[in-house]
Amino acid sequence: MYVRKTNIMNRQNLSMGVGGTINLCAISGGSVSAETATWENVCGVLAHLSDNCSRYARIKYRLEHHYRPVLVARMINDAMRILTKHGKNNIAPQALIETALDESCSDNTCKGKSGCNGVGVISNKSCPRCNGTGHKGWSNRRICKGLGVGSTRYKRDYEGVYSDARALFDRFEAEISSELYKSSERY
Ligand SMILES: [Zn+2]
Repeated sequence: MYVRKTNIMNRQNLSMGVGGTINLCAISGGSVSAETATWENVCGVLAHLSDNCSRYARIKYRLEHHYRPVLVARMINDAMRILTKHGKNNIAPQALIETALDESCSDNTCKGKSGCNGVGVISNKSCPRCNGTGHKGWSNRRICKGLGVGSTRYKRDYEGVYSDARALFDRFEAEISSELYKSSERY
């Protein structure tokens, strides 16, 4: 009975892994493509990431949302460090981490009427909407809503704070890309 249950779990995990491979590789910056990535790639990547980065990768690329509260709780100290560094204490550390996490996990492709669809170029010119990066972050309005501050106050006091919080997740992205690359060399 126990063995049978374990087998079922393994099959589920395997199929989740295949979907996860495609998600991870689609946003890996091209170091590994979804066509060439293997199950070993994904296991290798997840096994080598630091604890919080691994949770972040699972939330963003494998849609394992149950890791979100754990990750947020484990990053409260990072948020407090950033707030202290900037001498600010009027927003909740939890709101800072949650907003930066949600923006990092969202699809930031430059889209819409005047967007470039992630290409970075429109009519042979650098896309003005995203400055040629192909990515468009959240609007200040959306960030303010997440942080619970008004836009004047955000610009005056919290732009640098939020930028530091976003950088925490940019570092995770860099770690994931680096591990994907190393994993592609291993297998
Ligand atoms: Zn654009």
